Amino acid sequence: MPFYCVVLSVDLTYLFEGINEAEMTLKSQIDYTCSQCNRAWLPHRSGLLCPICGRPVPDAEVTGILDEALESARFNKRLYGKYDVEYWLTRRMGDRYLEWGFKALQIAEANAGRAPQAIALSALMEINLEDAADLREHLVDFLSVLVEKFRVAKTAAPDDWEQMPAPEKPFFGRKIIDDV
Ligand SMILES: [Zn+2]
Repeated sequence: MPFYCVVLSVDLTYLFEGINEAEMTLKSQIDYTCSQCNRAWLPHRSGLLCPICGRPVPDAEVTGILDEALESARFNKRLYGKYDVEYWLTRRMGDRYLEWGFKALQIAEANAGRAPQAIALSALMEINLEDAADLREHLVDFLSVLVEKFRVAKTAAPDDWEQMPAPEKPFFGRKIIDDV
């Protein structure tokens, strides 16, 4: 009888891992709109002007989108072995920045010697910006800085940017069959 209990628990483990893997991503907490023109965009560093109306952005309004993008990208890489994920849902403006950032980091990883700005431009060529096309120049800067920070972080702790080994699921399955 204990044998059947083992089989049942293994099956449940498969099921829950399947559900979790389809949902596990780190989403953005950031939304921001310009107080002068009301355009949604995210200031990623100090000294920026609103890309639409030119309003100088006070330091207090600079968002943490760069750190968020790096953290979420590292999470994806550790779990899925890549930055882009297929089932990315956009709830906040920050989620769109993260998605654009993942594209740039994927290109950066495949082109280690390439200048950050060239990577940003390549990424933007692959992205359909739709209603955010007027943010294009601002996004070249955002993606360039993101690639720079990514390279610094990866050099400092390369292991943090490697995929975690997959659990040995086939082993457990074969083990049960052998026992029979
Ligand atoms: Zn504005």
